[in-house]
Amino acid sequence: MIQEKLYLKGDKLLDIYGYEFKAIKNALKLGRENTIKKVKESELKGRGGAGFPTGIKWEMAADIKAEQKFIVCNGDEGEPGTFKDRYLLEERPLKVLEGIMIAAYAVGADKAYIYIRGEYSKAIDVFLKTIEAARKEKILDDYFEGSDFKLELKLIRGAGAYVCGDETSLINSIEGKRGRSRIKPPYPIEKGLYNQPTVVNNVESLCCTAEILNPDSEEFSQLGIKGSRGTKLLCLSGDLNKPGLYEVEFASVTLKEIIYDLGGGLKEGENLRFVIPGGISTAIIKSENLDFPYSYQDFEKRGNSLGSGAVIAVSKKHDLLDLMLNVSRFYMDETCGTCFPCREGNRQINKILKSFKNDGKKIDAELVSDIGNTIRLAARCGLGQSSLNFIISVIENYQTDLEIGGKLYA
Ligand code: NAD
Repeated sequence: MIQEKLYLKGDKLLDIYGYEFKAIKNALKLGRENTIKKVKESELKGRGGAGFPTGIKWEMAADIKAEQKFIVCNGDEGEPGTFKDRYLLEERPLKVLEGIMIAAYAVGADKAYIYIRGEYSKAIDVFLKTIEAARKEKILDDYFEGSDFKLELKLIRGAGAYVCGDETSLINSIEGKRGRSRIKPPYPIEKGLYNQPTVVNNVESLCCTAEILNPDSEEFSQLGIKGSRGTKLLCLSGDLNKPGLYEVEFASVTLKEIIYDLGGGLKEGENLRFVIPGGISTAIIKSENLDFPYSYQDFEKRGNSLGSGAVIAVSKKHDLLDLMLNVSRFYMDETCGTCFPCREGNRQINKILKSFKNDGKKIDAELVSDIGNTIRLAARCGLGQSSLNFIISVIENYQTDLEIGGKLYA
């Protein structure tokens, strides 16, 4: 039921001499169009959180005529509770590298960047060594195995801004500008880095493409169900007995099984109140509603998203108001401040929550939801748009408890 080893095949840490680069070799054999076709047919959806179909993104970028195109691997993993890309960068760097090469070949880019969160010093160290070894072995900077494909790859170290995980802020940051979001459209595939077509893909998505193109791998499109293909790395944390990184085949497990089987259930003496299913930019799911298959469509049906795969179990011991204040403070600190709705909206929410905490002033749920809707509709990037999902869902689900007054326990 649970696939645990897909990413572990043939990719020993930095064993560049033993690594066979079978997937990129296969892509070169198939040609650009067929490589993209294979990724499209695999139904791979972006694993950074938004779930946009990777093959379609590549196809759109490949269709654009330009002198220069770029690939950017987004390793600025900042979503609280998410640590899957860190694992891949530290333990599977060759698979990440191969994914970057496949993407570059498919869309016709000869320059790529990998942007890694500054706090991930081990990942940065491992990846710098990977790039150095790949250059020495003529895997980078030279025509790969006598083909017409060659790639330059540079590593950029992030500087601690959550907003730089947003692709447009990340692009600004690579250009040496302040990490502020840009308005979309135009999407990066049209005007990205230095205004050139740029494909930004998450680390896990690129690893998936290296699996999809590897002729020895299980057929990715045989795993999961229509609309949710392949596997997903899950970062389990919170009040669980067995937190950690797991890989599951889509729709082969329910969220309940993820919590109680994979995660080993709640720590002794604790009762589950709710689950945050995809990092704090997703809405909560109450403990009694977890019995549904882990798939994109099952989350969509519930008006929710599986996000980046950060599954956080929250027990009843936590004060709801403290949790909301914690999340609110995070967004207030991390907004880039460029767009008014996100900057001011998150500040106002924090003020409302604080005056409840400090002065017992009742939360006006309607006002919070009004501010939330304004931010969602008017913020220019994903940070603002999803910043109130958690808080609003807590208020909606626990409104009665919140109206009791200072104490928020059910
Ligand atoms: P998005 O839906 O705007 O875009 C997703 C991707 O698809 C982008 O690369 C975008 O350029 C592309 N795209 C979308 N529509 C397109 C179109 N019409 N034409 C061409 N390309 C198109 O979402 P986003 O703002 O990039 O990401 C938001 C998500 O990020 C949130 O849902 C959240 O779950 C996630 N997130 C993840 C982390 C993390 O650490 N992994 C951190 C914060 C947020």
